[in-house]
Amino acid sequence: MPQLCVGGRWVGPANGRTREIRCPADGSHVVTVDEAGRPETEAAIAAARRAFDEGPWPHTPASERGALLYRLADLLVEHKPEIARAESLDTGKRLVESGYDVDDVVAVFRHYAGLAGHDAGRVVDTGRADVVSRVVHEPVGVCGLITPWNYPLLQTSWKVAPALAAGNTFVLKPSELTPSTAVVLMRLLVEAGLPAGVGNLVLGAGPEAGAPLSEHPDVDLVSFTGGLETGKRVMASAAATVKKVALELGGKNPNIVFADADRETALDMALTAVFLHSGQVCSAGARLVVEESIHDEFVDELCRRAGRIRLGGPFDDRAQAGPLISAAHRDKVEAYVAVGLAEGATLRCGGARPDDPQLAQGFYYLPTILDSCEPSMTVVRDESFGPVLTVETFRTEDEAVAIANDSQFGLAGAVWTRDGGKAERVTARLRMGTVWINDFHPYVAQAEWGGYKQSGVGRELGLAGLDEYRETKHVWHNIDPTPQRWFGDA
Ligand code: NDP
Repeated sequence: MPQLCVGGRWVGPANGRTREIRCPADGSHVVTVDEAGRPETEAAIAAARRAFDEGPWPHTPASERGALLYRLADLLVEHKPEIARAESLDTGKRLVESGYDVDDVVAVFRHYAGLAGHDAGRVVDTGRADVVSRVVHEPVGVCGLITPWNYPLLQTSWKVAPALAAGNTFVLKPSELTPSTAVVLMRLLVEAGLPAGVGNLVLGAGPEAGAPLSEHPDVDLVSFTGGLETGKRVMASAAATVKKVALELGGKNPNIVFADADRETALDMALTAVFLHSGQVCSAGARLVVEESIHDEFVDELCRRAGRIRLGGPFDDRAQAGPLISAAHRDKVEAYVAVGLAEGATLRCGGARPDDPQLAQGFYYLPTILDSCEPSMTVVRDESFGPVLTVETFRTEDEAVAIANDSQFGLAGAVWTRDGGKAERVTARLRMGTVWINDFHPYVAQAEWGGYKQSGVGRELGLAGLDEYRETKHVWHNIDPTPQRWFGDA
């Protein structure tokens, strides 16, 4: 069955091009998918445009749009095992983690199903009896949605759910490396009753299948999650047609540990912060900023535990972390570690591929800790997006804040201390979209997610997540029009 969905029809590309997906854990064949190019994406944009301009969806009552999203959420629950398996095969991540991701996806669709009818607008007092004045929300139009490979379906749900809740139509372009769950999602959207052309799916490479979504004049909004450099390109090309732009571009997130922290929990969560999904998480706690007085003890123990993390494929029940997404990505991570060492960092653990022959066909990289780091180092400044922790130290609260904020990014960070006042003072000074106090990574669909500085533009989730996909219109209705006679004779 063809895997591109354009105008309600499943089609293949005109040139018959396909792409083979292989599991990063062992290189095994997963699936062969159709590969779209510019013509297919342009056809998908045209279909989404027609569905928006001529179709019923933008004017469908919000409660009906919400009901469809609730139906979709139920279908996702029903198909959870199939979806989790597909996600694990594409990404190499542990099956249990893919299962948690599906739970999160369901929560996101239910969240936006409930929000669909939220805040229909308001009546504004004009101080006059002959005018009715109101503010209403309307969909933006055609949305181009571009998603990455680390949390393929979850990142997609953060965009598709609010786009549909607000009454938009969309063209989705998932990462070329992880297309499978987007195909399942489209199938389930059709089953849930989404009208033809409202949702369109193109699979393929960014420069061909993705770029038209930021360039084409018929796209009104582009929402992108991925790397900083690609995000800048998307934003620049969207400027030519003044599209609405939402960007989530990752981070280099500090994990600040004060000497008075609950040591055992801080240690445990410092490992989770950076090594979850082998560091391929936009909010990964990849910068440990630790108080100098506990540095030696804390980092020694961290290294001891990091050295015992068991790597393995999606179906290895004993594995704690999986492979990197591709050979090219592992090369990039290795290059960052090499640069870090050349810049003066000390390798405390990892820094190599595992020598286990059972892992030789996958793109594994050992959990790595680089000590004696400085904020100016490339490995501290750039997002390596791998299992690499850099360690910096501080002596005072001011210094901790200054080090943590010394970054082009501002996505997330954490502060560990038993002193409630200190926790609040530091949190208030951190220039980040999310700050965890004595925790790392949790998020809820009900709270806004987004980055300060170069981590992004716009917010996802929460109430603001819906507003990114709505235009707001003020309607002034003069209900008793009479001549004003301001100029000239009566
Ligand atoms: P990219 O930024 O290259 O890719 C993200 C998405 O954008 C993919 O679907 C990609 O397509 C697409 N894309 C690429 N070029 C264009 C373009 N010109 N126009 C429109 N869409 C385009 O991320 P990578 O996957 O290469 O990862 C690179 C780095 O990005 C990672 O190392 C990491 O630092 C960061 N990253 C951040 C994430 C986050 O959550 N913030 C998630 C994933 C990555 P294609 O399928 O061809 O890749």
